[in-house]
Amino acid sequence: MSRSTMRFVEWTIGAPRGEAPKTVIQVRCLHPDCGQASDPSASHMDPDRWALQHAGRTGHTEYEEVARCRLVATPKEPV
Ligand SMILES: [Zn+2]
Repeated sequence: MSRSTMRFVEWTIGAPRGEAPKTVIQVRCLHPDCGQASDPSASHMDPDRWALQHAGRTGHTEYEEVARCRLVATPKEPV
């Protein structure tokens, strides 16, 4: 029977090192057969404005807001 070495590494996850978290917000119409979405934006204002204009044009009233940010997983430095 051979011996094996198992190495356990702890990982952390967060914004890329040296960068502040950059959240991107997008609003998507939930009306069946529509699926249109706002452009991604750094603030709520433009996606909200898009949704209100879309509602006015189409009568579609339900939306989903998605906030995304890039995360990086890195092995934790040994102490
Ligand atoms: Zn729609």
